[in-house]
Amino acid sequence: MTNTINTQEATKAGEIVRVTGPLVRANGMSSAKLYELVKVSSEKLLGEIIELNGDIASIQVYEDTTGVGPGDPVFRTGKTMSVALAPGLLESIYDGVQRPLKAIEEASGSVYIKRGIDAEALDKNKKWDFKAVAKVGDKVTGGDILGTVAETKLIVHKVMVPPHVSGVITNIKSGNFNITETIAEIKTESGEIEVVAMLQYWPIREPRPKNKKIFPSEPLLTGGRSIDTLFPIAKGGAGCIPGPFGAGKTVTQQSISKYCNAEVIVYIGCGERGNEMTEVLSEFPHLIDPNSGEPLMKRTILIANTSNMPVAAREASVYTGITIAEYYRDMGYNVALMADSTSRWAEAMREISGRLEEMPGEEGYPAYLSSRTAQFYERAGVVETLGSEGRQGSLTVIGAVSPPGGDLSEPVSQSTLRVTKTFWSLDAGLAYKKHFPSINWLGSYSLYVDNLLDFWRENVAPDFANIRKQAMELLEKESKLLEIVRLVGMESLSNSDKLTLEVARMIREDFLMQNAFDPSDAYMPIKIQYNLLKSIVTFYNEGLPVVTTDEFEFSRFKQMSTYKEIGRLKEKREVSDYENFISRVKEEIKALTQTNA
Ligand code: ADP
Repeated sequence: MTNTINTQEATKAGEIVRVTGPLVRANGMSSAKLYELVKVSSEKLLGEIIELNGDIASIQVYEDTTGVGPGDPVFRTGKTMSVALAPGLLESIYDGVQRPLKAIEEASGSVYIKRGIDAEALDKNKKWDFKAVAKVGDKVTGGDILGTVAETKLIVHKVMVPPHVSGVITNIKSGNFNITETIAEIKTESGEIEVVAMLQYWPIREPRPKNKKIFPSEPLLTGGRSIDTLFPIAKGGAGCIPGPFGAGKTVTQQSISKYCNAEVIVYIGCGERGNEMTEVLSEFPHLIDPNSGEPLMKRTILIANTSNMPVAAREASVYTGITIAEYYRDMGYNVALMADSTSRWAEAMREISGRLEEMPGEEGYPAYLSSRTAQFYERAGVVETLGSEGRQGSLTVIGAVSPPGGDLSEPVSQSTLRVTKTFWSLDAGLAYKKHFPSINWLGSYSLYVDNLLDFWRENVAPDFANIRKQAMELLEKESKLLEIVRLVGMESLSNSDKLTLEVARMIREDFLMQNAFDPSDAYMPIKIQYNLLKSIVTFYNEGLPVVTTDEFEFSRFKQMSTYKEIGRLKEKREVSDYENFISRVKEEIKALTQTNA
């Protein structure tokens, strides 16, 4: 495939008849194809045909259309909107149509993109050390690995046979090449020679092919206790973080990007306001990967839309991002994609649909909002990749949603909830009380729990699922008891209810609360999470028979030294520390019975 986004060769086809904001209508376009890339006006603004009606094409333009008017020319390119895929993607910061922000900034003097700037997505001069792993005479098929390049210190880029190509290698060489130079030649069955360079293209709206999807059975571990233990997401899963402004969507997604056990991160930012995205742009390049000590960008691709950028580019950005993510999945990596926030993407869709004068659905969103949302999240998954010896790769997709007023009944939240299986409900009330992460334990859920039972049993502890379940039951019981306390006060509670409240409070304060900005707290391995939660639950299980004996003075429970120490237990990182602690809890509770008697 030889599509490029930034193409110079374009032939004049039609003429503009109408301009409404980012949408341009042109006639004389009967030979064009849907989703073909076009250049609009003599300024050659980048556009994509999104509707064809006879010889009239509706074109969404990825640049500001001020000054463009009827009679201006439209040029066809014969190509579809595609992403450039090759070494050099990692560490890049792109706009929604894969123009590097740095190059744009240099060319236009600001991050607010000037019009008609053709910026190459990837450096075509840079030489990479390509190490062939296939050899002449090998029979190969789409997805097979031809060779590797050390793209960054952290990630080895695997150069693959393009999908849909198969045959016998007639030429392949190791050496220093730029991404457009030939690294291999493949003789196909029809006898043609397919010339392969490191640079390949893939249309953004088309999922990249795979051999098959595999049932997700491992968690994407994030180090976040609330996520990993209570509301886990599977590698290859789809999750949704809804929450009002300031609830912690961005902090949560950045923290997952930093600590999760995916090798490659794609972060799509659709900022609410210009400066919000600027924050991400200035912060992200300084984040350090805690495992390697290297900059996180060495395994990250950042796609940034500010609200000043054209709405059509925002619409395209999620497809650009997910196609790049699939490309690394195809190399056999675990990839995690964050989209913050998809509400802005949906609004872009709504605006374009309005300009197309389509029949509006709920709240003015197009009727296809749900199907587009579903198509996007369906690109998540664990796959056996294309190729004769398919590798396993995964793509986890986590989308933030910012429902106006926090009202989850609105269309974007609803269409997202239908297709994502993990739901982290961020709660403004908790954020206000400085309970972070503000994931509401009563309103959140994960439908991956059953997928992960074997993993937990084999890799964490045989009773992990039980401890988790018990903790959730205690939290639910707490909320009911607190209702009663509000009505009739603490005095009416039995000792066992008081114990429930105490232990549930420990779960909330000493387990769920976690400071994303404290490096010693932000990440906790799953085994330690289990031991911490087990320590807390031990207070309940051991304490219940004791506090329910006649006339037990509940305040004595709070005098135990382990009770006073629980708040600092999470600082410990050795399993043996927790085992010792649990033994001490048991001894202290036993001592209570003796003095009680
Ligand atoms: P949103 O993206 O939902 O608008 P942010 O992610 O920007 O919200 O979070 C708002 C603020 O809340 C942050 O600046 C930070 O002070 C605080 N915060 C959010 N999550 C955490 C966390 N896990 N730990 C500590 N502080 C947090």
